[in-house]
Amino acid sequence: MSRSFDVVVIGAGPAGYIAAIRAAQHGMTVACIDKWQNFDGSYAFGGTCLNAGCIPSKAMLESSELYHRATHEFKKHGIVTGEVSLDVAAMQKRRAGIVRQLTGGIGGLFKANKVEGLVGHGKLLAGKKVEFTPVDGDPEILEAKNVVLASGSVPIELPFAKFDREHIIDSWDALELDAVPERLGIIGAGVIGLELGSVWARLGSTVTVLEAMDDFLAMADRDIANVAAKDFKKQGLDIHLGAKVSATNVDNGTVTVTYTDKAGEKTLEFDKLVVAVGRRSFTDGLLAEDSGIALDERGRIIVDEECHTHVSGVYAVGDCVRGVMLAHKGSEEGVMVADLIAGEIAEVNYDVVPSVIYTAPEIAWVGKTEAEVKASGRPYKTGSFPFAASGRAKAMEQTSGMVKVISAADDDEMLGVHIVGPMAGELISEAVLALEFSASTEDLQRTIHAHPSLAEAVHEAALAADKKALNYINR
Ligand code: FAD
Ligand code: NAD
Repeated sequence: MSRSFDVVVIGAGPAGYIAAIRAAQHGMTVACIDKWQNFDGSYAFGGTCLNAGCIPSKAMLESSELYHRATHEFKKHGIVTGEVSLDVAAMQKRRAGIVRQLTGGIGGLFKANKVEGLVGHGKLLAGKKVEFTPVDGDPEILEAKNVVLASGSVPIELPFAKFDREHIIDSWDALELDAVPERLGIIGAGVIGLELGSVWARLGSTVTVLEAMDDFLAMADRDIANVAAKDFKKQGLDIHLGAKVSATNVDNGTVTVTYTDKAGEKTLEFDKLVVAVGRRSFTDGLLAEDSGIALDERGRIIVDEECHTHVSGVYAVGDCVRGVMLAHKGSEEGVMVADLIAGEIAEVNYDVVPSVIYTAPEIAWVGKTEAEVKASGRPYKTGSFPFAASGRAKAMEQTSGMVKVISAADDDEMLGVHIVGPMAGELISEAVLALEFSASTEDLQRTIHAHPSLAEAVHEAALAADKKALNYINR
């Protein structure tokens, strides 16, 4: 007799495992299937985010930033060290340990919440049946009242720069390099290009980034992108905009890249080339032909605002559906879907999803950019405050960057907050809460902020929107 569950989730990344836990918290019987296999052959829950994305990249960003500070900034603080040297193996061991701890933790959470974690392949069949093939066994049919598809995404491969995992590599390979490449090339100056470029540049690589678009960080507010571009240049990241790569060739351990920009055709040589030109929804082997699930023109599972597919009782969440490919967006969709299945009212506020780029300085934003507000035709005001005027930032010796607040001129509603500067990824949470609660600029202006703190810069930027900044000359 086949096993049956109230909910079967396929995929245990941040979208799927969170959906599974929340569904179990509602008292439902839940199974969550995943087949993720790490380079060492071990299977693990946690998906891209925990195994090859958010967590290992932040571990490497932190280690490389500390190395950079020790070699470049300690002196300013009056700290004299002997020669500082690098142990890449120890750095990678720390990264792997953090990943192991967190992915293992999901197993513990599954146990505590009575989620059945199943290691293997899941395939949706017609009639809400799921074929589960364990990594070391025969297929089994699971009956499900509800199915949540959370199969995630994989890197986009360029036809003229195919991954060979040795010289032309993806972000996962680039996170696990065992030595610092002398010359590192990156195609794509997006989030991954900038984060991984920062890691290896701090550790000593000469990093060149080739970006097809003419605008740097096209999705960010222009003022913020301009500050960030200057900072990255100072840090030695050589970013070529408007660079269209047309060919690559690997010979004798060297990757030759041919690209064209306004000045014509050029070639560059690298020891490693990271291709980071976006990710695509992953549904290979997920859907039986008669499953009834439809994909859009970009291969994403088609869902409505509530993440419901065309098939009643089948939902899809996270990177495999429309919207930004961010872990927290997927997790919130997982929570929403589990709550809806339990009969509760639930929604995701897609207008208030924060974005963070974990470079130094960090870049973070929520809501609309100034260009978007301008295009909407709504009258608006802006206020900004530089970290150079923040006592806390000065004490930290991290004064680059600013906070920018954009608010409606008619009813004072806050429409967007954009930060480039120290701890921007933490500071943005206050702005997310403000936008979620439809706060006015005055609400933020009247909120007490601890002194001295970086958060005072957010407060002052809100004050500046009405020319009321107290620690900076209003313009
Ligand atoms: P995934 O995490 O991709 O998980 C999908 C899971 O489904 C996988 O484990 C896969 O094995 C499993 N699966 C797929 N098909 C099947 C099947 N048929 N049967 C069984 N299992 C299956 N986002 C952030 O918000 N912050 C960050 O700082 C951040 N940093 C990143 C850094 C890098 C280098 C990368 C690559 C991504 C980063 N992201 C970040 C993006 C983030 O990792 C994704 O948005 C997130 O992992 C998506 O979650 P998901 O659950 O939808 O999919
Ligand atoms: P991305 O979409 O952020 O950036 C890809 C970049 O590559 C873009 O600037 C694009 O113009 C450029 N590009 C595309 N084709 C190109 C070509 N042929 N030649 C040169 N440039 C080209 O994608 P990504 O950096 O690969 O990241 C993938 C996803 O992972 C993103 O959606 C992102 O949200 C997520 N991610 C998030 C974080 C974070 O939240 N901190 C970190 C890493 C990844």
